[in-house]
Amino acid sequence: MTEILQKILLAKDNRANMRKTFSAKKKISISFSLNIASYPKTNKNISQFFNLILTDLKNFLLANKIFIDNNSEINIIDEAGNFFMAIVKNKDITYSEIKQITEEFEENHKLGRFIDVDITDEDGKNVSSHKKKLCYFCNEKPAIVCMREKTHSYSELQTFTLKKINEYLFLENKNKTTKELSAIALKSILYEVSLSPKPGLVNFYNSGSHTDMNYYTFLNSSSALSQYFTKFAELGYGFNEDLSKAISKIRIIGLQAEKDMFAATNNINTQKGIIFLMGIALFSASYVFYKDVNFTISNFQETVKKVCKDIVKNELQNLKVYKTHGEKCFEKFGLKGAGARLEVELAFPTVVNFALPVLEKFFKENKKEEIELALRKTLLAIISENNDSNILYRKGEDALEKLKKISKDAFIDDKKYDKVCKFCIKENISPGGSADLLAVSLFLHSIKKIKNEF
Ligand SMILES: [Zn+2]
Repeated sequence: MTEILQKILLAKDNRANMRKTFSAKKKISISFSLNIASYPKTNKNISQFFNLILTDLKNFLLANKIFIDNNSEINIIDEAGNFFMAIVKNKDITYSEIKQITEEFEENHKLGRFIDVDITDEDGKNVSSHKKKLCYFCNEKPAIVCMREKTHSYSELQTFTLKKINEYLFLENKNKTTKELSAIALKSILYEVSLSPKPGLVNFYNSGSHTDMNYYTFLNSSSALSQYFTKFAELGYGFNEDLSKAISKIRIIGLQAEKDMFAATNNINTQKGIIFLMGIALFSASYVFYKDVNFTISNFQETVKKVCKDIVKNELQNLKVYKTHGEKCFEKFGLKGAGARLEVELAFPTVVNFALPVLEKFFKENKKEEIELALRKTLLAIISENNDSNILYRKGEDALEKLKKISKDAFIDDKKYDKVCKFCIKENISPGGSADLLAVSLFLHSIKKIKNEF
């Protein structure tokens, strides 16, 4: 133990010398370290914690107009743990003013008592705030007293510290993941509706085969839905029950989302289908990010299968009375008319097998024309394979098969796209189910790029 202590003291001496080099230049410096009751003083999680708080600290300083000299930054790991130091550039501020600001940061931070921000003045003196921090473990006596009196055992402190840090990291990672996933979900539905023209579907130029909605109706409902995308993802991240219990919980959020959609569109059903599909996709993707180090399509599919197990049997086959469009479509066409429920029960086969390879090949983020070509091709690939219940319900099997056939032709020859659009107008049909799957495809294509840092 004494050997370890010596190493730590040596590291602290080195830090003091670094401070001296800054004060020798007559500069105020700011340094940041953690109060960690464990040895080694750092590990992968503690380093992640340190870096997250360092980012918060830098933002806080910037917001309070304290400027640090980026060229002077030192960010090291030594025997005493993680350590950051930099010169303050401001000329018109006193060290005690800076100290006041950094104390506000420490006091307001959730784990502020683990944080030590020190200010060293131009003469190399450490500025003390004269405030005694409470011990983070018992929250009763000043930290310095508990330390001196060895009130708490080393292993108590260590367990407590690591637990708090892990809880903090879990929440930070949950926030980061759900924020990213919901932004991508919103982006995906906006890309889908913006592709113009589109066969029978609402787009920027016209409303396709629809008379009760337009492009702006979709913007209204998409805006209303965005907050629910976050909720679906939050439910998935950290979900600790059996996955078969998830669907009813996803549905509760879905029903709230539908209500807001109808309120935003004057009672027009613009995106009920996508609420269902994206809700399941968001939940499952978020769950995978929580459970696994990296996101893979096969882990995603495995999760969706568990979430949606027997959904066709439970929600269609076992019905006594068939009421909604989707239910009636199943009553008439059997599994071919099982629509979105069959697609999720089988874990998005149309998306994974037919749409994702097309996006992989054609999607480039740069030019508008390239994005449009990729979206068009992907939509056609989906329509060519999908038994869209919107069309089955409205026009039956002949119209569906004809649409699939001409979409396949247009996939090969882009010039025939217009023919598909005209066919849908003539038949007064709109492949809304396929449009929803295009949005899910874009979602899955985009999230593969997210890196899990936890
Ligand atoms: Zn204590």
